[in-house]
Parts: sequence; C-alpha cells; structure tokens
Amino acid sequence: MKKEQFYDYESRLSRPINVKIPELQTGERLRHVIFADQFTRGILERVTRTADRIRTVHKSKDGCRFLRELLPHIKAMLYFTQPSTRTFLSFMSACQLLGVSCAEVRDPKTSSESKRESPIDSMRMFSSYFDIVIMRSNQPQFAECCAYLMNDLGETSRRSVPIINAGAGADEHPTQALLDIYTIQRALTFDHPKDSSKWTWFEELRQTEPGLRRGIGGKKIGFCGDVRRGRTVRSLSRLLTLYDDMSMYFVSPPHPKLRIAPEMKSLLIDRKAEVREFSTFDDPCGSSSVIENLDVLYMTRLQREHNSPEDEADFANLDFNPYRLTSKLVARMKPYAAILHPFPRDEEFGEIPTSIDADPRAFYFRQARNGMWVRAALLAYLFDVDSQIADYYEKYTAETKDYNTGVL
Ligand code: ASP
Repeated sequence: MKKEQFYDYESRLSRPINVKIPELQTGERLRHVIFADQFTRGILERVTRTADRIRTVHKSKDGCRFLRELLPHIKAMLYFTQPSTRTFLSFMSACQLLGVSCAEVRDPKTSSESKRESPIDSMRMFSSYFDIVIMRSNQPQFAECCAYLMNDLGETSRRSVPIINAGAGADEHPTQALLDIYTIQRALTFDHPKDSSKWTWFEELRQTEPGLRRGIGGKKIGFCGDVRRGRTVRSLSRLLTLYDDMSMYFVSPPHPKLRIAPEMKSLLIDRKAEVREFSTFDDPCGSSSVIENLDVLYMTRLQREHNSPEDEADFANLDFNPYRLTSKLVARMKPYAAILHPFPRDEEFGEIPTSIDADPRAFYFRQARNGMWVRAALLAYLFDVDSQIADYYEKYTAETKDYNTGVL
C-alpha cells in the first residue's frame, strides 16, 4: 500500500496510544485487536483462562462438538500478504475449533490488487463477505488504518467487522505477545506431571531458591538477538509491564539498529520495569552472569528482511556468535528457566541449535501450539462466547470428577 493512501488516516495515526485505544473497543470490550497495549491484566487473565478451558474441553469428542457449534455462523478472512506459517495456521485451526469458516488471500497477485485495486478497497470487499478480518502486512500501520475504516463504515450504518492485527511490519504482533504471556505463565506455575501430595517440583525448586514464587511477577526475562526490529519483542515487553517488579535484560549486538530503541527502553522504564542491556550472556549481572539470572529466555532471529544494503555492510563487521544459544549456556541456566522463541528459527544462523530441543526447558514448540489455544480463546472473547465455554467447562470437569470418584 502506498504511503499516500494513509492520507485519510494520517492525523489519527499520529495520536498517542491512550487516545487511540478507546476507539478500538466497544465499551470495555475489545472490538479490534491492533496493539498489545490494548490488553489489560483483566483481559489477559480472561483470555488465558479460556485457553486453558478450551484445551481441556477439546480432549473429548463431545467437547469438540460443543466448541464447533459455538460460532458456525461466523466467517473469517485470513488476509496474510506477508509470509507466515504458525500465525496463519494457528488462526486457521483456532477458527476450525470454534466452527468458524475461513477463506484466505495470501498473495495479492492472485487478487484484484494485481489490477491496481487498492488494499483499502480489498478490505471493504472482505468486510462485505466475512465477519472478521485477520491480517498480516509488511506495512506497520495498515491494520490500524483498516480498524479506522471499519469504525467509519460502522458510524454511517454500513457493514463493519473487527480487525485482528496478526503482525504489522517491524512494529507489533499483539496476538504473538498473548501466546507468549500464556506460555510464560504456564511455565512459571511450576506444575509437574509427577506432582503428588508427597512431592511437588515447586517445593523441590524452593529448596535451592527459597524466594521462588509462582507466576510472572518479579521474574527476570531475557531477550536475545535482534531486539530492536523484532516485533514480537516490542509487543511482549509491553505486556510484561502489566506485572509487578519485572526485570527485562536485552542481550543484543552492539549496534544502534539492533539494540533496543531508546524510546522503547524509556517506555518500559516509565512503566516501572528494570531494564538492562548487555552484549553477551556472560556479562556480569549481580554476583553471577546474565545467563544464570534468567527465569525466562526469549531468543529471536536476525530480522534480515529489514536489512538495507548499508546494514548488510555494517553488520558484516559484527560478531554474532554471542547471540547463538549453546548447550553449555543452557547448562548454566536455572533448572526451570523457560526458553522461548517466536519462530521461525534461522536454520543457517542457528540461534537455537536443534540439540537443545530435547531439554525440558525448551518451550518453543509448546509455545507454538499454545498459539492455537490462545487465538481460539481470543476469538471466543471477541464473539462473546467465552462464558458459554466457562459453563461447559464447569459441567465437564464436575462430571469427570464424579466419574473418577465413582471409579475409586
Ligand atoms: N514469526 C514472528 C513474526 O512474525 C517472529 C519472526 O518472524 O521472527 O514476527
């Protein structure tokens, strides 16, 4: 999309985020999902609880049937003009879980955009045929513009549908942040399949770390790699500021285009997070080194697609070795520290070698699967069927419990 096509929205795009947010909601409820900052602690708790319920209910055939009958009247357009594997497929599976039917446009060359139709007109067409548009674009503010377009249409009683930002340029990826929070939250409950009345993993961990608490608050989260241009880092770090006493450690190459942006750093500090920057995992931190301090490590790949020819030349002089995780580094991490990666990992660069995949701290495949549960929960929230899921879950778990008691 050409910059001048933003023209109608230019004045709205430059407003501060707190002014924009109310326009993306209907009262307290989110209508469009464009920025991570739209999520409050309350919404996060609500969506992650629904995700837990969906994954439990989905274990039975009756549960699957119940879920599929929730939204059979809804049709979703997946408009992904930038490459995607996980976000696209997990949104599609999430739709299928809830009975939402989907269609897709992934290559604008196969649509009338190849006949010079503007993406804004495409969007109006999608809203004519579908009930929600889930979109990814390499234009940072295009999803935001589409949300304003839908609001304007709605105000003049024309057809208007919710927009979900599934990745906007190097800017934001709010639903990835949602699944990252869900994954971190699950990792930091310290639940273990072998927990019993005599032994819990949490109590065992507390013998060496007596101050350990369950949950995200108070934890040290490390981000490693291209922390400036990685949109998942930008969205997740914002969400983490919703929790108390957070520390965020950014380990990145010493180059201004790769280090955390000064405005992002100030935003996190203003929101009371402790923010520190390091060049390697071995840098001193407290009485040990960075790697030994982390409760969660969020690895990222180098966002090469954003490199200009000057960047290529500049980066050629940097040593990127410290931004590859190794088994030796993992051996020094806390026994429970979760390793995440939004994926794709770069096979050639190898920021996480496959030899680490079998380590119980490697959460990245579970993280990708969590994307499906969380996105289904988000859709359930947006279409207001999450309380039906809660009711079914209560009934389902009560019945399962009764059955077990009967068997015993
Ligand atoms: N898949 C994520 C994204 O779309 C992370 C990445 O591409 O590095 O932003």
